Amino acid sequence: MFKASVFTLYPDMFPGTLGGALAGKALADGVWSLDAHNIRDAATDRHRSVDDTPAGGGPGMVLRADVLARALDRHVASDDPRPRLLMSPRGVPLTQTAVRDLADGPGAVIVCGRFEGVDERVIEARGLQEISIGDYVLSGGEVAAQVLLDAVVRLLPGVMGNQASGAHESFETGLLEHPHYTRPVDWDGRSIPDVLRSGDHRKIEDWRRRQSEELTRARRPDLLKR
Ligand code: SAH
Repeated sequence: MFKASVFTLYPDMFPGTLGGALAGKALADGVWSLDAHNIRDAATDRHRSVDDTPAGGGPGMVLRADVLARALDRHVASDDPRPRLLMSPRGVPLTQTAVRDLADGPGAVIVCGRFEGVDERVIEARGLQEISIGDYVLSGGEVAAQVLLDAVVRLLPGVMGNQASGAHESFETGLLEHPHYTRPVDWDGRSIPDVLRSGDHRKIEDWRRRQSEELTRARRPDLLKR
């Protein structure tokens, strides 16, 4: 079973979107498990504080190393084989390849940042790998963690049947996916491309491949370079 342990200041945000549809059913069916730990439970002072002002000055607050480390150490054994991730705009961009690697593993420990970020020392000391879901800044790591887990969970055995392993999906081939159509054949003055109604599977494959290449060239030339 893929085991996800999330560390957050907002455990009520979980399972959130992961409680519905495919991921929610898989969670209920025991295909994967999720526990959300409140980092604040590891605070020790009477105000239960988890953050403090940045050393060296500047705006905002920083998540304290001691509190986060205590939270992690309470719930994650030192020999736990799961990768320890920190959602972070400074991180390595999340890719389908990384998602697949995670789905093939035992699970993930995921830290959701807040404020200006997390004290660097706990990132080093607990070996947190920083992962970004894109070049923009969110207010916290919770949505990012759900994005990551959604992408992973749909790949777990039995969650989507053989659909998710489909070799044609965006990024799986290094290309974006071709356009899709379904009935009605004529809608609002627009028709389905003839080739898709030809029944000639060879031609259909060729057409889809060309469409994928054209779309990728137009929208994501960076993917073609890789
Ligand atoms: N000051 C930081 C941004 C902090 S945003 C900087 O400039 O890098 C607060 C938290 O939101 C982060 O700690 C992280 O956990 C989460 N977050 C924000 N943007 C993200 C992104 N693109 N991907 C993953 N996590 C993100």
